[in-house]
Amino acid sequence: MLNVNEPVDEIVILVKRSSHLIQSDVRNVRNVAGGCRQEVDIRQREQSLDTAKRNIQRQDSDVQQREQSLDTAKRNIQRQDSDVQQREQSNNTARRRTRRQDNDVRQHEQSLDTARRRTRRQDDDMRQQEQVANTARKQCLRNTTSVSSLIHRFRGIVAHGPVYTCSSCDQLLYKHSVQLAANIRSMSLSITDSVLLNKRSSDGIEYICNTCSNYLRKNKLPPCAIANNLHFPPVPTHLPVLNVAEWRMLSPRLTFMQIREAVVGKQLRIHGNVVCVPADVCTTVSTLPRTSSNFETVAVELKRRSQYQHAFLTSNVRPACIREVGTYLVEHGDLFQFQNITFNHSELETIEPDALFTVSDASDNGAVTDDTVTTNVSTSVSSDSLASLDVATDSDPWVEIADMHIDRAGVFDTLFSSPDFVEDSERAAVYGKIDTGHFDHVHTFAPAEGNKPISVFVDKYSEELSFPNIFWGSSRPDTHAVNVHYSDIVKSELRRSDRRCVTCIDNIFYKLKKCQMQAVTGKVNVAVRKHKTGGHVYTAGELRDADSINNLVKFDDGYRVLKDLRGSPPYWEKAKRDLFAMIRQLGAAQLFLTLSAAETRWVHLLKILSEIVDNETLTDEQVDQMTWSHKCRLISSDPVTCARHFDYSIQHYFNDFLKSTVSPFGQLKDFWYRIEFQHRGSPHMHCLLWIADVPQYGVNDTVDITQYIDGIIS
Ligand SMILES: [Zn+2]
Repeated sequence: MLNVNEPVDEIVILVKRSSHLIQSDVRNVRNVAGGCRQEVDIRQREQSLDTAKRNIQRQDSDVQQREQSLDTAKRNIQRQDSDVQQREQSNNTARRRTRRQDNDVRQHEQSLDTARRRTRRQDDDMRQQEQVANTARKQCLRNTTSVSSLIHRFRGIVAHGPVYTCSSCDQLLYKHSVQLAANIRSMSLSITDSVLLNKRSSDGIEYICNTCSNYLRKNKLPPCAIANNLHFPPVPTHLPVLNVAEWRMLSPRLTFMQIREAVVGKQLRIHGNVVCVPADVCTTVSTLPRTSSNFETVAVELKRRSQYQHAFLTSNVRPACIREVGTYLVEHGDLFQFQNITFNHSELETIEPDALFTVSDASDNGAVTDDTVTTNVSTSVSSDSLASLDVATDSDPWVEIADMHIDRAGVFDTLFSSPDFVEDSERAAVYGKIDTGHFDHVHTFAPAEGNKPISVFVDKYSEELSFPNIFWGSSRPDTHAVNVHYSDIVKSELRRSDRRCVTCIDNIFYKLKKCQMQAVTGKVNVAVRKHKTGGHVYTAGELRDADSINNLVKFDDGYRVLKDLRGSPPYWEKAKRDLFAMIRQLGAAQLFLTLSAAETRWVHLLKILSEIVDNETLTDEQVDQMTWSHKCRLISSDPVTCARHFDYSIQHYFNDFLKSTVSPFGQLKDFWYRIEFQHRGSPHMHCLLWIADVPQYGVNDTVDITQYIDGIIS
């Protein structure tokens, strides 16, 4: 009898013998029953009898085992033929590949693998073995022998952008920052269902970022999860899409900032400060002329003050669309209701538009000058609408604008740039074409006239009121189950798969300004308590004395607290001192490197942007055929992704290229860099590299020096 535990050689012999016996039995049966074979029903009966008999036999585990081991042995013999083995394997692979095309099956398989690995890793030996293997693999990668293979690998890395959506915080992330959400789901934690949004990335798979995953594994709510009250209000799809000027006319706060188009590449940059001023939406919308359809437009100029020569925004607007969206905001936006903004439709119908606007008819007197427009404005608008503006200001809950501190808002709020954000000559350069009578009828509005700027900190909802195109008149939720800082909210909103904040350039600059201001106010509080004075303790009496205050200012002690604030003069002062210390220790740097972002020529970046901005996957050829203006549109509509990808590329350039064992420039001892955003608005980087064992000028042979330089400079 066969024994499963017997050595293999003997089984093979036994199998051969027993298969011979079985065959001879079968032959006997065939001979006996030969006559009956013709009749189908008899054969069927015979077969079913056989099956039944076999089934009964197999209930005996011995018989079953014997049969199985016979089968196995038979298969083993067959597989000794390499053709059979290969055919079997390719069949299996094909079957598995077909099955894996179903995302669910793949995810299930992957989560099973993960679970299996996790169990295995609980064994310390196993984990150590794995770590050793990983280290070896990484070492092997780092030891890539040639510069060309390093370049190839670098290109492969930067070709992939932040296109993976976290299903918990809805942020766009790089592949290395996300993992499969199926892993978390397979842990069946109580928090998972309430946090995961079931949001799939463009490849159809649900991911979760490592940060959120770490929180969820502890069954905690991630601070940046959308479930922590961070969701955007829904965008009503039935309303017309408004342009910048149309939204401005509906904004209860106007943020004034000077945003200019870079000469090359059309990216937008800010000049000067950001100032928030309350605006009278009711009057603005009420005084818009009646039009018969959604398609009829009127030209408007938005000015800070009606007597100013130049408008901060000039555009065609559709009054009917503004009213439609405005009505929605009043009905659905809690902040609009809180600000008592209403549009009295019945009264509006009776208003004679020309009585309220200044209409400068350019066609009448050919080249109308700015002065004539200004005169008209200052007479008619200031008499009529200003009166109503004053009334509106009185009923406004934000009467604190009379307060001394708030008077200074916008003027002393700034640190890093001067507050003179109105430079008429420059404004004329940008909007000159309109001021010279480009439109026949220009309606002039100064919605914020007569109102004083309010500090972004006193005005709690200034961001929501300034950007109804993002917040739709609703306030950001005040309460969060887990505390989350404003800078984290900003980061989250800018990375969100819903790109509404990024496409609104004004909002990016607003956020920057508020973050900077928050950092400064935070620092000032700390400074008062922590200020180091070289052993000297300042007393209240001394601070009353003008001389000691002057000394504080003179020796920059008052500003030193700002050294951690990126971009501030004390920050660069500290950076300069660090650099000088490095030069003292390491000597002069051997290489000076400048790296620039060539966004319009980076095919991989344009492909990433097209996927994020237009939701369109392009081939290299399609990107090659793209027009210049198409490229510029993609780049300026998502500056956040451009800047992130530049940073990502720089990190990999340093870690995987300069620091690799190949050492393309020689072994890197140390480095120092500074990233600037200049003319085009794109980042570029200045960098000093200290390289070990470089031939030195005046010490080594000139031939060696030229050889080294020729080796790294093409
Ligand atoms: Zn996340």
